Amino acid sequence: MENREFWFVVGSQFLYGPEVLEIVDKRAAEMTEALNASGNLPYKLVYKVTAKTNQEIADVVKEANYNDNCCGIITWCHTFSPSKMWINGFVNLQKPYCHLATQYNLEIPNEEIDMDFMNLNQAAHGDREHGFIAARLRMPRKVIAGYWKDESVQKRLGAWMRTAVGVAVSRKLKVMRFGDNMREVAVTEGDKVEVQAKLGWQVNTWAVGDLVKVMNAVTEEEIDALVAEYKASYDIATDNMEAIRYQAKEEIAMKKMMDAEGCKAFANTFQDLYGMEQLPGLASQHLMAQGYGYGGEGDWKVSAMTAIMKAMGENGNGASGFMEDYTYHLVPGQQYSLGAHMLEVCPSLAGNKPRIETHFLGIGMNEKDPARLVFEGKEGDAIVVSLIDMGGRLRLICQDIHCVKPIMPMPNLPVARVMWEAMPNLTTGVECWITAGGAHHTVLSYDVTAEQMKDWANIMGIEYVHIGKDTTVEGLEQQLFLNDLAWKLK
Ligand code: MN
Repeated sequence: MENREFWFVVGSQFLYGPEVLEIVDKRAAEMTEALNASGNLPYKLVYKVTAKTNQEIADVVKEANYNDNCCGIITWCHTFSPSKMWINGFVNLQKPYCHLATQYNLEIPNEEIDMDFMNLNQAAHGDREHGFIAARLRMPRKVIAGYWKDESVQKRLGAWMRTAVGVAVSRKLKVMRFGDNMREVAVTEGDKVEVQAKLGWQVNTWAVGDLVKVMNAVTEEEIDALVAEYKASYDIATDNMEAIRYQAKEEIAMKKMMDAEGCKAFANTFQDLYGMEQLPGLASQHLMAQGYGYGGEGDWKVSAMTAIMKAMGENGNGASGFMEDYTYHLVPGQQYSLGAHMLEVCPSLAGNKPRIETHFLGIGMNEKDPARLVFEGKEGDAIVVSLIDMGGRLRLICQDIHCVKPIMPMPNLPVARVMWEAMPNLTTGVECWITAGGAHHTVLSYDVTAEQMKDWANIMGIEYVHIGKDTTVEGLEQQLFLNDLAWKLK
């Protein structure tokens, strides 16, 4: 993880003579150093080259594609770089690409400006030539314009780096399925060959019986150690230590199986718990806290998206988790969605210290009351995201929400809960979400933004639909209609 880096590639040409190229090279190195020292980039920037020829560009692209640490390239033209030079490299580029349209100097220097200054500092038109070729080649890319020392520019660059890391994680992601999807459910289905081709996900099934075998081999010492970890992180609000120990056994076994296969996400279903006493609750929650993706009812798509969005968040394991829209509060002036799940809500969403509780769970084949973490979600702006299979293409739907402290205590609700206001408002938001076909399962994230999800979808080559404060049902219907036509032509 800590080896991830991005490459800074500066465009130029031989026209200006060696002195100008020397200055460009020195400044590119200086800018890289300052950006790395800013504290606003989550990953290292490496200055690679001031490229002057087709060959240099083709070579750095080839190296970027091949290098596992390189998660993307960032380009900029201090001077003019004729863009036909970039074609052979760009048509082969497989890594995320950001064009930083900036310039070295903040101000136009009134007294000093002359034609030498103009020759050296011409990003304003160099970056336009550079932008044309990416537009002409229909490349997915991010364009960020602004002064490189501005904190807001640096933070946008940092956010894009996290998006690109989401791409890297997606392309290597393996998902472990325990059992199939819940019977008869449509939205959790999908084309696993299509997602592997488009997104890189390897989605495969392991038998619940194999998991039970691994569970039976877990030792008491292993369970003691994990229960000590639970006690250090959470309040124990039950006398039923056996249920907690059973969840620890489930967690240890699932983690062993996932780690042996290199899986970073998993799905299970309450309809297939054969040989298990409890649906994994606390077990799944604590695995999510460690960065594993999870989806209930066999929903491997939401599980994979959870793993990816966690990796895109703070420190590579952010405040994102599996969520389900449960019920509404429809009182005028006080309209909220209540999200929860049977058990499995990630504690990274918690606004207070989670409590471990045990309660009866009627759904599924639970012989014993499963232990689970109970808490309230944090306040703050967030998004909910759903990936659906439209048949022939994937659609990513993202809605802006604002989470509030739940307006009532709900003392008899035995699961973690998050309450939010949907954008543009509850009912229009629901109409838009349903019109777009969004699932009841989502990934809720406090630290990944809609802009990042749009960029991620663009890089992956899938459809993106955003529901925000300005979205109307009519506008959305029109967009979906046009998208449908456009995607049929692709
Ligand atoms: Mn569900």
